[in-house]
Amino acid sequence: MSKALIAAIEAGGTKFNCSVGTGPGDLRSSARIPTTTPAETLRGVVAFFEQAVQEHGPFAAMGVGSFGPIDLRAGSSTYGFITTTPKPGWTNADLLGPLRERFGVPMGFDTDVNAAALGEHLWGAGQGMDSLVYITIGTGIGGGALVDGKLVHGMLHPEMGHLLVPLPATNAQHPLGTCPFHENCLEGYICGPAIEKRWGAPAGTFAEDHECWDEFASILASGLVNLITVLSPQRIILGGGVMHQAHLFPKIHREVLRQLNGYLQTDELLRHVAEYIVPPGLGDEAGILGALALGALAAK
Ligand code: ADP
Ligand code: ZN
Repeated sequence: MSKALIAAIEAGGTKFNCSVGTGPGDLRSSARIPTTTPAETLRGVVAFFEQAVQEHGPFAAMGVGSFGPIDLRAGSSTYGFITTTPKPGWTNADLLGPLRERFGVPMGFDTDVNAAALGEHLWGAGQGMDSLVYITIGTGIGGGALVDGKLVHGMLHPEMGHLLVPLPATNAQHPLGTCPFHENCLEGYICGPAIEKRWGAPAGTFAEDHECWDEFASILASGLVNLITVLSPQRIILGGGVMHQAHLFPKIHREVLRQLNGYLQTDELLRHVAEYIVPPGLGDEAGILGALALGALAAK
């Protein structure tokens, strides 16, 4: 991994976090630019990095971890575009083009959650793990995966927020969730806004013993069991605003083991589950450091 100066962008639906630096502990300047129209947002991003070059010198590459869906297909005419997002103004928006044109450096580009998975692998809770899953539970739910040391792509890229999960046994009358596409996907049931819709108040306001958290753990565990059985990750990292509720971790551990029902007899699950499903080592910097890591790989 080079120690060159890298420009990093965590492109989100509400804000673009921008920074320049070389890695953890060395983010030299940062800005949060509100996500408005693509043109206005990218103008703000370009202005920040122009200023950063003045202050810190040129950067060797740029890494962008973005909300999606995005086009990651090498050679595609819309590579680097945001594609079918319902976010107004951003459907088929060229995110990478204007940045490449302005700065002319190698670009690393991936989903925000794949970026975070990479950052955690290099510097955070996934060090030494060649196969891991990173999931964020916030305004939406997204997941990235590293398998055999490589970020998982494919036809498009993973969309783990839309894993279909069973109705929780606690409530056969579960009202519809928040996903406009699916009645019973993970995001639709347990992203921050879904918790608020289901229980009538923001997720951060509920006491640790509120029944919403048992239901949350049960639904999330169903998604995790599916991921464990498909990818067999060596570690699962859970980030995002809702996972600031640290008391959820033991509940999730218990529920994953209960739903697996003894089928997988590994040390990770049976003896060390508290080190198997963990919070991000990079905390809320997983996204921006992940973007930086994408840039650093592109700089090689
Ligand atoms: P985003 O997903 O937009 O990047 P966050 O990861 O911060 O941002 O997620 C925001 C969501 O997380 C909101 O729905 C909010 O209600 C919820 N949230 C934020 N902090 C907490 C908390 N401490 N406990 C539970 N939910 C929280
Ligand atoms: Zn869905």
